[in-house]
Amino acid sequence: MSQLRFNVVEEAFSRKAIEVKLPKELPNEYYAKYVFNREKMFKYLPSKAYKALVNAIDNKEPISRELADSVAAGMKQWALEMGARHYTHWFHPLTDGTAEKHDSFIEHDGKGGVIEEFAGKLLVQQEPDASSFPNGGIRNTFEARGYSAWDISSPAFILDNTLCIPTIFISYTGESLDYKTPLLRALNSVDKAATAVAKYFDENVKHVNSYLGWEQEYFLVDEALYSARPDLVLTGRTLMGHESAKNQQLEDHYFGAIPSRVEAFMLDLELECHKLGIPAKTRHNEVAPNQFELAPIFEETNLANDHNLLLMSLIAEVARRHNFRVLLHEKPFAGINGSGKHNNWSLGTDTGVLLFAPGKTPMQNLQFITFIANVMAAVYRHNGLLKASISSATNAHRLGANEAPPAIISMFLGSQVSAILDKLETNTKDELISLAGKEGMTLNVSQIPELLIDNTDRNRTSPFAFTGNRFEFRAVGSSANCASAMIALNAAVAEQLIMFKKAVDERIAKGETLVHALLQEVKNLIVWSKPIHFDGNGYSDEWKAEAAKRGLDCETSTPLIFDAYLAPASIEMFKKTGVFSEVELNARNEVKWEIYTKKVQIEARVLGDLAMNHVIPVATRYQSILLDNVYKIKSLFPKEKGLAIAEQDMTLIESMASHMSLIKNMVNEMVEARKKANKIEDERSKAIAYHDTVVPYFDQIRYHIDKLELMVDNEMWPLPKYRELLFIR
Ligand code: ADP
Ligand code: MG
Repeated sequence: MSQLRFNVVEEAFSRKAIEVKLPKELPNEYYAKYVFNREKMFKYLPSKAYKALVNAIDNKEPISRELADSVAAGMKQWALEMGARHYTHWFHPLTDGTAEKHDSFIEHDGKGGVIEEFAGKLLVQQEPDASSFPNGGIRNTFEARGYSAWDISSPAFILDNTLCIPTIFISYTGESLDYKTPLLRALNSVDKAATAVAKYFDENVKHVNSYLGWEQEYFLVDEALYSARPDLVLTGRTLMGHESAKNQQLEDHYFGAIPSRVEAFMLDLELECHKLGIPAKTRHNEVAPNQFELAPIFEETNLANDHNLLLMSLIAEVARRHNFRVLLHEKPFAGINGSGKHNNWSLGTDTGVLLFAPGKTPMQNLQFITFIANVMAAVYRHNGLLKASISSATNAHRLGANEAPPAIISMFLGSQVSAILDKLETNTKDELISLAGKEGMTLNVSQIPELLIDNTDRNRTSPFAFTGNRFEFRAVGSSANCASAMIALNAAVAEQLIMFKKAVDERIAKGETLVHALLQEVKNLIVWSKPIHFDGNGYSDEWKAEAAKRGLDCETSTPLIFDAYLAPASIEMFKKTGVFSEVELNARNEVKWEIYTKKVQIEARVLGDLAMNHVIPVATRYQSILLDNVYKIKSLFPKEKGLAIAEQDMTLIESMASHMSLIKNMVNEMVEARKKANKIEDERSKAIAYHDTVVPYFDQIRYHIDKLELMVDNEMWPLPKYRELLFIR
């Protein structure tokens, strides 16, 4: 075997689990140990400051300079006691991931020494040089200032001895340069709009929260094997590799016994999560070999998203301790399942009612159906935008592959909710009036006012499914920042609820009863948004044809999918909800196209290099061994016999020659296509050129490389094979 490959495979396969010591304390004693939560605020802040801060957080109000000074002093005290010596504003730039710039707490004391200092102004606002973050042309590099400002709704935490302060990141002129700012705006907007509608049912509702429970899928690969695969190291996925004879066909991995090395890693990761206040709860094997999942208990969306971003950095760090590398890429291996990040999403009132859960009384059930119908309408109106919100160069490999939802957004409701909708739709006007009569509103469905939604009525092929008391947006990619999907979804629903409220109020003003007005408007929504409702098999080809007929967005080219952000309906919706200005939308799309191009560009280069420097030389060497063999056979044996003996080798030589020449030609063509695309100035056109003229080479080149992998002597093949990468011992 190639010496490197031999060594790394041996190293990987001989590794043992690394033992993780369970703390002596119970989880409730170390949970959120590294978080400046209310308990620590209470302990480290003067009581007046504590009350003022909690009040500001609860009522979403800004804090004063004095309060900031007081909070900063308490936070610093706590952080120093916990061993932290640095602090950083922690923000989410438009690259996926987080950014931080560390400063230490020290200041000159004027006597040649230092004192630990952390002023309120440093807590609430900083002006990092923002010129090197993607900004889509909002900032010119000579205007390098951006502001980062503390998001008081997300608690500070300590990571690697550094106090991290969750912040928003905006340009000098006020445009958002991050994910958090628009997310907070969208959550604010859906809060207002949903509260107004929830008040029809309960006067006491003051706020509606958006909740997110993400399920993070990931792959683990042994670090020795990983380091011998330049494609994994540089692009996060394998650009070549013949499928392993055994992969997931036995269906023996899902929920299977977790290998001991992995179990130790998971335990370690959960402990770290818990100390950072991430309520990690569920862990299991996923469908593909080496694929796993972690899910926490759901939380308020902004906090849940911070926790997901934190998890994505934690998981990489903890994996290294266990000699693993974690792959968050949506499709690291061809031929087996890719990874998503299901976003379980719901709305709930501050009075404790989940708005997508049926209730016990007829009025609660009308509220339930009201919110379901509004979500349907929002998802229908903005199905193209929602798809754009989850699209990326990497997720494109997963969507529409046969284990993931296609690049079409539809909504699964299940048989029970579907039956209720049908019933409501076909009710005549009179029936509706009688429904609203004294005896109460039973929705006239089953005469039992208490709906018990069957949770097992699941459809795994739907990108957006109702699952009992929430919706599960499954099309989100495993490496994505959930904020992107959550911004589009919450804003779209906010817009819809604003329109709904207006329509209902107009009816009431004309003298209709509340129940009648609600039922009529709900019925309108059900009828109008019918095309989005699909409970069948989303993986089937018939659905693709049907979806096109229904007018759903069926675009599959990622750069073109991004256009949905700039559609008039999207611009208007984002303006109305205060989430994005048109300037911001334009700038952010520039960034999306630019990132798309760069990711494809890197993959093309890595593929070209590996093909020319790893594969072709080894194949040539093996071919020459074969040639040598043929030569010797022919010189030893009589002509006819020699030919007969050498025949198979000669066929192999020819076949290899053909694959090699095709690879070389296509790599050259791909380089030319890139050169041509690179000359294009406009980011959108460039991304389209990369999609249309560069990407198509990937699978073709790979096809021939994978053929060669089967022909070349196993001992010579330099790259760890799928069968070695995918089965942790
Ligand atoms: P699955 O069977 O789909 O894997 P789980 O029961 O593991 O579902 O839950 C998945 C995620 O959904 C968890 O993070 C869970 O906390 C979250 N979840 C449950 N109820 C809600 C809700 N009402 N709103 C948002 N997320 C929720
Ligand atoms: Mg789920």
